[in-house]
Amino acid sequence: MPYVYNWQIGREMSYPHEESHPRWQFAFVFNPNRCIGCQTCTMACKSTWTFSKGQELMWWNNVESKPYGGYPQHWDGKLLHMLEEVNPGRQVWDAREKDRETMPYGTFDGMTIFEAAERRPGPDGHQGALGYLPNDDEWRSPNIHEDIGAGSHFSKEGQYGGSVQLPEHKVWFFHLARICNHCTYPGCLGSCPRNAIYKRQEDGVVLTDQSRCRGYRKCVEGCPYKKAMYRPTTRTSEKCIACFPRLEGKDKEISPTGAPAETRCMSACVGKIRLQSLVERDEKGGWANDPTNPIYYLVRERQVALPLYPQFGTEPNGFYIPPRWVPRDYLMQMFGPGVDSAIEQYSCPDRELLAVLQLFRANQQIIFRYEIEQGEKVAECEVTMPSGETRTQEIFNDTVIGYNKFDEEVARVTIEEPTFERPAEAHVNSI
Ligand code: SF4
Ligand code: SF4
Repeated sequence: MPYVYNWQIGREMSYPHEESHPRWQFAFVFNPNRCIGCQTCTMACKSTWTFSKGQELMWWNNVESKPYGGYPQHWDGKLLHMLEEVNPGRQVWDAREKDRETMPYGTFDGMTIFEAAERRPGPDGHQGALGYLPNDDEWRSPNIHEDIGAGSHFSKEGQYGGSVQLPEHKVWFFHLARICNHCTYPGCLGSCPRNAIYKRQEDGVVLTDQSRCRGYRKCVEGCPYKKAMYRPTTRTSEKCIACFPRLEGKDKEISPTGAPAETRCMSACVGKIRLQSLVERDEKGGWANDPTNPIYYLVRERQVALPLYPQFGTEPNGFYIPPRWVPRDYLMQMFGPGVDSAIEQYSCPDRELLAVLQLFRANQQIIFRYEIEQGEKVAECEVTMPSGETRTQEIFNDTVIGYNKFDEEVARVTIEEPTFERPAEAHVNSI
């Protein structure tokens, strides 16, 4: 197999296709610290793209309750187990040496799904990626074990187990919102024997050509995130298309000037946990230095948002701010070795980070650049860090301004939410 460079695992890896990158890449940050599990995003996607016959069990967007939930059931645990079987005891990171551009989280010394596939050949030789095909039962429940907490075992002293890292809580769970990650090295694309899956040059969106697909389901097997799905009525596979007509600025209600708009799931998010952009690639395939793009800032500049299971090797373009209360070992398995630093920063954000965090769901148009206007100091508070130490946070009423692709202002948000008092005489009793 050819070799490609994967910055998320800090090294070269084998991949079924030669390195080739689009100029722009669809990318997003989700913040599970704020997700309330309302499933509005799930229904926004379902009612737009997957409401037809044969798509009943198909949820391109889903929100699952971790640690027990998953759609399909146990998708991540199963694959982690398979990788461990191929490379026992060696699926580990070396985070001693780091470089912000080329290896920000250190190096993953274990095997990716592509490397493990070479080790485990089947009767027809090895597959493009190590994976499995879930059975029908596993697809049946989009949020099985909803809101079930872990860590509630009683100790000998009659106390709760206390397995979380924030002192206030005894049990934990969190909502993990998921869509296709429009990976840089997609497992679905690498596994397809028909070359029916491709990555668009203009925005890196990964699509399935329905006229080429023959429904072999190799993409379903090879996507480690299980975001390629089979439709029995058409006998083809389908997947999230990143609402590409909106990315193309085709919805004039949202984008009168034709600027790119966020996907339906991002736009509908009640908890304001989602922020999307397009990041520019440099000539070598990395991310071009663009610190005023909010996604670049959160992912590359501050590393406060981390990739989901980077060790799988697909270089996913979806990133998560790890939930603060969840045990660190669990988070590190899921998001890699950057977890401690991400949580430290998010627990007591500095002035710029706090301003950028206000851009989540500030407008339906995609924000390509932000600026901050400094405001007065309005508060000072004591923050308890996950370690139990206290820190003083100064709050300034800064204004963050977001600009669309054409550099038109589309968002203006202050740190302090403005409040208005209604004149009493006009609204004595409005009911
Ligand atoms: S998340 Fe899965 S379906 Fe989406 S691009 Fe990556 S490998 Fe393909
Ligand atoms: S709409 Fe937002 S808050 Fe609600 S479940 Fe989806 S991601 Fe979470």
